[in-house]
Amino acid sequence: MNEHKSYVIDQRIERTIANLTKNNMLACYVKTKEDVIPKVLEYLKDGDTVSCGGSTTLFETGIIEYLRNGKYNYLDRYDPSIPAEKMDELFTKALAADTYFSSSNAITEQGELFNIDGRGNRVAALLYGPKSVIVIAGYNKIVADAKAAFARVKETAAPANARRLGYKIPCATTGKCMDCNSPEKFCCLFTLIGYQLPIRKDRIKVIIVGEELGY
Ligand code: SF4
Repeated sequence: MNEHKSYVIDQRIERTIANLTKNNMLACYVKTKEDVIPKVLEYLKDGDTVSCGGSTTLFETGIIEYLRNGKYNYLDRYDPSIPAEKMDELFTKALAADTYFSSSNAITEQGELFNIDGRGNRVAALLYGPKSVIVIAGYNKIVADAKAAFARVKETAAPANARRLGYKIPCATTGKCMDCNSPEKFCCLFTLIGYQLPIRKDRIKVIIVGEELGY
């Protein structure tokens, strides 16, 4: 990457990490996606019950595959042997996990995590339940503020995810939000996670990666 552009991105990352830290989240930076698993291992121990939210970033960083190594009690939402009607059971168990993995649809420079959800299991776990939450996000998820986060989700994350999941909703075709009322609409719940109470300090760990990841 061009050094001047790289400098601007580095400054943005630094501001974001400083404000996440002020908000009592344990934020750090790793340079590449290959650095993510060694970092994550600092927060995990063998035998932990772990689970995750739906995420392209978790696939791209190898986390989903890594959690299947047998060292953990992994509640695997991507296990094809689990029938759809049992998924809510798994999602409910995940709320009591030792560690929950997710990305974030956007991260503001003010140190906030912005997410949308359809069913609500992912945002619920981010908010409360799992003892520890590890959020992994490429630098491309950083935006100026909550307004920009909302725009990012509507203009980029939702349409790209709609295509990934094969949903027949308008943004999957147009590539931008059409304010639909489709039955398959998945941008139903919006959460902005900011300051964490001191008793919850460092429950949420945020690993920002110096590469573009996810949508
Ligand atoms: S409201 Fe509909 S069109 Fe807009 S992002 Fe959500 S699912 Fe896509």
